[in-house]
Amino acid sequence: MAAVIVTGASQGIGACIAKRLAKDGWDVVINHYPSDSDKEKAIAVAEECRALGVKAECYAADVSKYADCEAMVKAVKEDFGSIDGLVNNAGITKDGLLARMKEEDYDAVIAVNQKSVYNMMKLVTSVMMKQRHGRIVNVSSVAGLYGNPGQVNYSASKAAIIGMTKTVAKEFGSRNITCNAVAPGLIRTPMTDVLSDELKAKMIEAVALRRYGEPEEIASVVSFLLSDDASYVTGQVIEISGGLSM
Ligand code: NAD
Repeated sequence: MAAVIVTGASQGIGACIAKRLAKDGWDVVINHYPSDSDKEKAIAVAEECRALGVKAECYAADVSKYADCEAMVKAVKEDFGSIDGLVNNAGITKDGLLARMKEEDYDAVIAVNQKSVYNMMKLVTSVMMKQRHGRIVNVSSVAGLYGNPGQVNYSASKAAIIGMTKTVAKEFGSRNITCNAVAPGLIRTPMTDVLSDELKAKMIEAVALRRYGEPEEIASVVSFLLSDDASYVTGQVIEISGGLSM
């Protein structure tokens, strides 16, 4: 059975992706941030995946830290035998207008959203190269494509992911490794629950479909990009925003 790592899979879009991939028949590696509450949620996600008849295990790792990622990838290789897919989903926001944004908030968002993608792609491509196949999907954002006031740190990290995706697609294409990105718009998760009703209403005004996206609507596109149906798709960014940018 093919194995896929999903980072930040204890809740929100990551948990939904893990469950969708389990339904597709993937063995699932559920990465979670090393906290008790994330561990508890990740265990519940793993149980749901196992109920679908696949292998699913939880691995604690702060993906912004290279050493954590290295230990996780080593353990996954031993436990699962191969690593066939990687979904870089973990992400945080620490919003604020540039004039007021603290340096530590800039650095924290870059470390979790961007450096983690370097960490995980560097480690996992070395496994995939030997296998001569692999599929990577990076979770960017419409903020990385178009910018968003109050998110100079987040937009920078999500734009960087797009450049990294295209570069890795070019570097590893000859090894049968594809690398694509998805750019979600406004999706209903704990990350967006904290926004004010006024801001949410204003944002939805700009969405052609006039509603939030659901995590399942991200998971279905990730599922496609990891599938054999997407065997000739690489270096692409698929916007999943209900028509936000038209
Ligand atoms: P969320 O806050 O519900 O989930 C994020 C997950 O990442 C959590 O499980 C969290 O524990 C994990 N995480 C955070 N830091 C981590 C670290 N250092 N190591 C390991 N795990 C870590 O948010 P979400 O909405 O599900 O977001 C998932 C991804 O989708 C993020 O990359 C986010 O930027 C992106 N995204 C979300 C939206 C949206 O509207 N919700 C839009 C565009 C992009």
